Amino acid sequence: MGDLWLSRRRLLFTAGAGAIGVTVFGSCSSSGPSSPPAGSPEPPVPAASGAVAGDWRRVQMGVAAYILVRGNEAAIVDLGTVGSESRIEEALKAAGAGWRSVKHIVLTHLHDDHVGGLAEVAPLVKATIHAGAGDLGSILSPRELKPLADGDEIFGMRIIDTPGHTLGHISVFEPATGVLVAGDALRTTGGLEGSDPQYTANEELANTSIRKLAAMDIKAILPGHGEPLTAGASKALKELAAGLPA
Ligand SMILES: [Zn+2]
Repeated sequence: MGDLWLSRRRLLFTAGAGAIGVTVFGSCSSSGPSSPPAGSPEPPVPAASGAVAGDWRRVQMGVAAYILVRGNEAAIVDLGTVGSESRIEEALKAAGAGWRSVKHIVLTHLHDDHVGGLAEVAPLVKATIHAGAGDLGSILSPRELKPLADGDEIFGMRIIDTPGHTLGHISVFEPATGVLVAGDALRTTGGLEGSDPQYTANEELANTSIRKLAAMDIKAILPGHGEPLTAGASKALKELAAGLPA
């Protein structure tokens, strides 16, 4: 089974502003694709060189930001604390991109450790800068912010409303790979957990958001705090949801 998954080749090509992910099976095509046997662990989401899952790269800071580069176009999800722009720039360069490549910025929520880099980054990019409609008014920005709503699609990324941590919190899901950039709706600092209760605006909403995510086909979780969870994410998320108060 390991060979089967290693032989997967994921081809990404852009069509206009969107992107399509295609999975083809290499040497195993003669025997046909098969699912892993029941009960076996889920294989990790394949990652491009330097990426943590799919084409997603993690900017290494106290709180994570994530960048997605496809061809000469890039997206950034969250901007870290004040002073994060040099770390983000390093990550863009490592991906063969730069500030000029950045066309899309998505802010998951209004907290300073996710939007702190905005004042420094905004003058460097021509990107459209987005935030959830519910948090947007509370984010201090030198540029206009565009509101995002549940189901919106940008650059092959689907916006998922995940209120609770803040009332306008959003997450970013890439259907082609099953990668979820979770902001602070989920964290992995001590196993997979939901929003940290001491920073949660509405715990009931936060739990509802976890149940919503657990019902999706999420294969990898890229959180703001903690390491990426790139194997067994779906199972861990369903277990987390099942353990929540009714
Ligand atoms: Zn937060």
